[in-house]
Amino acid sequence: MDIYQALQTYFGYDEFKAGQKKIVEGALGGKDVLGIMPTGGGKSLCYQLPAILMDGITLVISPLISLMKDQVDSLEEIGIPGTFINSTLEDNDINYRLQEIRQGNYKIVYVAPERLNTYAFTRLVKDIKISMVAIDEAHCISQWGHDFRPSYAEIPKFILNIPRRPVVAAYTATATRLVVDEIKDLLGLRDPLESIIGFDRPNLFYQVVKVSNKLSYVNDYLKNNFQEDSGIIYCATRKTVEAVTEKLNLLGYSVVSYHGGMDSESRQKNQDDFILNKVKIIVATNAFGMGIDKPDVRFVIHYNMPQNMEAYYQEAGRAGRDGEPSDCTLLYSPSDIVKQKLLIQNSTFSEKRENILYENLQYLVDYCNTNDCLRSMILEYFGEDSLEAKCHNCGNCVDNSEMVDITLEAQKILSCIYRVKERFGVSIIINVLRGSKNKRILEFGLNSVSTYGIMKEYSEGTVREIIMTLISMGYILVTADKFPVLRLSARSRDVLNGNERVYHKKHLLQVKPSSSKSAKAAHDVDFDEELFLELRDLRYTLSQEKGIAPFMVFHDSTLKEMAAYFPQSKEAMLAIKGVGEKKYESYGQSFLEIIRNYAQKNEKKERRPFYG
Ligand code: ADP
Repeated sequence: MDIYQALQTYFGYDEFKAGQKKIVEGALGGKDVLGIMPTGGGKSLCYQLPAILMDGITLVISPLISLMKDQVDSLEEIGIPGTFINSTLEDNDINYRLQEIRQGNYKIVYVAPERLNTYAFTRLVKDIKISMVAIDEAHCISQWGHDFRPSYAEIPKFILNIPRRPVVAAYTATATRLVVDEIKDLLGLRDPLESIIGFDRPNLFYQVVKVSNKLSYVNDYLKNNFQEDSGIIYCATRKTVEAVTEKLNLLGYSVVSYHGGMDSESRQKNQDDFILNKVKIIVATNAFGMGIDKPDVRFVIHYNMPQNMEAYYQEAGRAGRDGEPSDCTLLYSPSDIVKQKLLIQNSTFSEKRENILYENLQYLVDYCNTNDCLRSMILEYFGEDSLEAKCHNCGNCVDNSEMVDITLEAQKILSCIYRVKERFGVSIIINVLRGSKNKRILEFGLNSVSTYGIMKEYSEGTVREIIMTLISMGYILVTADKFPVLRLSARSRDVLNGNERVYHKKHLLQVKPSSSKSAKAAHDVDFDEELFLELRDLRYTLSQEKGIAPFMVFHDSTLKEMAAYFPQSKEAMLAIKGVGEKKYESYGQSFLEIIRNYAQKNEKKERRPFYG
């Protein structure tokens, strides 16, 4: 069987995603490989497909223990025999599985890094043929990464113990050069074939929303977008998680919570209910998500601002792994910055580390305040040049609101910073400009500077918004300290002496114009909505009978293709993306039946995807 046949037979796809082919062929050719791909890039297929074609066994090392059972279930759904070994299993179960592995019953074995150098496991690998060791989340070996796991340091020793060195394949979604170099070095990859895929996720619609009443925004959003679909709402604290869950429940939404303070049983249950589509929305702290690869999350809302761009991109990136249009919304309020700063302040990090954290936070603050393309700003953070200045698929690019000249306001603010000798932070500057009689202002004698009260008629929020914009545009610098101070940048001189004008959006509240219709789907097909809903009901019923997640039966994109092409034979069904031999065997007939009935009732004819 060649790689395309395997791709079609097992996975039901007829083409590779970017970067996959190179890695698959490299591994099959006996080379070490390093795949750097964003979430949703299709890393699993990069090791699952060669694993089928290689003789012997592929070990997949992963820190995501909670995910292993689902991964093995998914493999079984497509006809690949697999198992897993981790600490959730009783000893006798582990022994039984080791025995089965020895007997050659499996092609893929998922294993937690902690188990690798156990006596039983090191003995096992001496007796069986390991053709490949695939290391998922490979950045966990790097101390520079954000998820360092000491147990990953055990991997190189383990590989050295394998009698015939297997292909070593490493995968990560982290692109920082420092981390990538360390992965290669520490894992001892031998002249690896590297495949780096761009970090852009074209199907995600990014937006930053500034509202004073976040709950009412979320309520409006949920009423108008993705009513039937899954979504995650991230909050900064457990308290907020509970409050938001309760309020949304009262409003009649299907919502559960997830945070570190809950007992592990309820947490697990809520997570399972979310994955199985029994509830639509999960409200969670950042404790949720590491082990989740639910592909059909249609929206991720950040109720509070996270710590930095890396965290934001990772969490927001849990939307739309299946390539379908999905939304990532960050609800922004300046008080979130204060909260994040307090977290850094109260940490026990060194001063140098603290300063890096402040700097990272500032990048996200700038992201929230920019009028430019949000996608470009994200990609820039990850060191990628975006092709165009506008992506036409983010809150800023689709916002047509009028720009107004705020040069005068900018001049007032900049002179105030100058007048107080660049010694104070945002709040004091605002108070001076608005002529506050606050005790501290009077104590510092700031009521006697010439800019005192020159912006009396503006609300506190508006002045703050303009200051934040000036920071993101680079006219004002913020020192990276516990108590950040505003300073003038070299560019501010041009504004002060009238050589440069500054513009800002007229209405300060941004609301997304319509649901993500503008978002680009990875596979854009015009499908029959009614049939899609029928197929989705059938999928739900089948998945409940089997106790697996609906997406393990078929992805949304597969159902949409069915509802677009009305396949009515086995051959036509196998031409649908995501329908492989094994899945056809399990579910093909049930889906065909619905499609045939529907097509007959509505006089629909079968169409062929390949003929367009
Ligand atoms: P990652 O681990 O990189 O986040 P996954 O392995 O979970 O990504 O894959 C993301 C999604 O892409 C999954 O829904 C998977 O089924 C789909 N996918 C993978 N390879 C292909 C392909 N060649 N064609 C179409 N879809 C694919």
